[in-house]
Amino acid sequence: MKQQYKSYEESKEFLFECMKNYPDIITIQSIGKSWEDRDILLATVSLNVAYANLKPALLFTGTVHAREWIGNELGIEFIDYILKNYKNNPEILKTITYNTLYLVPCLNPDGFEYSRTHFSFWRKNRRNNGDGTYGVDLNRNFSVGYNKSKHTSSNVYSGPKPFSEPETRAIKGFVDTHPNITIALDYHSQGNVFFPAHKFNHEMELEGTDLNTLCANMNYHINKITGRRYGINRGKPPTKLISGSGREYYYSKGIISAVVEVGTRNIPDYMQNMTESINENIPALLYALGEAKNYSPHSPQRVDNFHLVEFDAHGCKLAWDYPEDPEIYFEIYKNKNNKMACNDASLRGITSGHEFIDENLDSGTMYFYYIRAVHKLSQTKSPIAPKVKFKTLLEDNEFSRTIFPKKSNVGYVAQKSPEANIGHFGVNSLKVGVSEGRGICYCVMQIDLDSIPKNAQIVDAKFSLYPLNRVSAKIEKYGEWSLSIMDSNTIADIRDFD
Ligand SMILES: [Zn+2]
Repeated sequence: MKQQYKSYEESKEFLFECMKNYPDIITIQSIGKSWEDRDILLATVSLNVAYANLKPALLFTGTVHAREWIGNELGIEFIDYILKNYKNNPEILKTITYNTLYLVPCLNPDGFEYSRTHFSFWRKNRRNNGDGTYGVDLNRNFSVGYNKSKHTSSNVYSGPKPFSEPETRAIKGFVDTHPNITIALDYHSQGNVFFPAHKFNHEMELEGTDLNTLCANMNYHINKITGRRYGINRGKPPTKLISGSGREYYYSKGIISAVVEVGTRNIPDYMQNMTESINENIPALLYALGEAKNYSPHSPQRVDNFHLVEFDAHGCKLAWDYPEDPEIYFEIYKNKNNKMACNDASLRGITSGHEFIDENLDSGTMYFYYIRAVHKLSQTKSPIAPKVKFKTLLEDNEFSRTIFPKKSNVGYVAQKSPEANIGHFGVNSLKVGVSEGRGICYCVMQIDLDSIPKNAQIVDAKFSLYPLNRVSAKIEKYGEWSLSIMDSNTIADIRDFD
């Protein structure tokens, strides 16, 4: 039988059934009521659940936006996965022994039901605004950067004041009274992208590397299941930041937090896409749950002053400060790309000293180093020190050039508009792919190699393209990409599609 999304009632029944069957592992509570008097349910999952509040915790929130059904479904499936497997899977057992999961599958039950039964594209809650309009965007109703607006009919109406809504008050009340929460993940759809939190006014912070690495390591687990790689995008100036969002509220309380945008539609077809999204996100969630203990006040403190002492073409020396402690050692990770996972595959060295020498590096290459302190017995890790990033020197007989094409030399040629093709150069938006109006569109760019000495031997050349989709994330897979190099002398006329 074709599986369908669970309703609010079905989800509620499922949760209480779990509590009946696994009373030592899961409890269900209502953290508040919605406008239409529905309970906002929170599941607590942990081994010996009576002691759950004493352990470091991950907070999961789903379906804050009514039409983003993935959150509710993923939350329910994650609980089901833990309960069905913890007895036979030592990794899950270990994770719920030392960490607690607080999970709100649906923070917006009224909106969710309205979306399911009346208007699937509904986004807000169901407050009666008193002027014939309904709803507040809950993810604009938190206090950090709250932006008052009068447009009650807007899809992003922020409500009369911060926490004016029973749904946001409910989660605030829970978070404020549970200081053991160390990580918060807010599940939305769509985009296949992580949006880690940022300080609203871009104040100094130490947690930037933690935020990106948590997402990168989750991404590694997603990639293992489906081969997909989510984007990781932190808002930086001058990006317009989201006012009054849950993510920034949690981060303002010292919680490592991120929004995860799952899938490529708000409400994907269940069988084709939804099950794939769930399957890839469950191992990522399990990893994140296991990280909760590494961010508690009882975990080792973060390494101070992690820095580069010296480097040349093939090696480097790194050093850091840490109080003398025989129970602590350090893990050093190395990546050649930013926002890549720090895990067994990238672990470069272990030492209990306060410096590290790395050799056999490639010349003229970017490297990223990361460090965590680890407690020998408990294996609890520290947060990650801000990363060290540098490019190794070149050998005496080497040179490198980074060459960008001029804007006027970048454009596209479209099958159905041969006369207009020359006008497609120098514009910002390149159309690549197939569309009804333009037919097949290729990107064309001309790169001037005059700055390279005539007698140079080119040993390595890289060609980088950063295609963007509508949420400014790197696109993952859109059919086949192919590149070819053309001699400009053979292109008679760029307007000629052939
Ligand atoms: Zn959303």
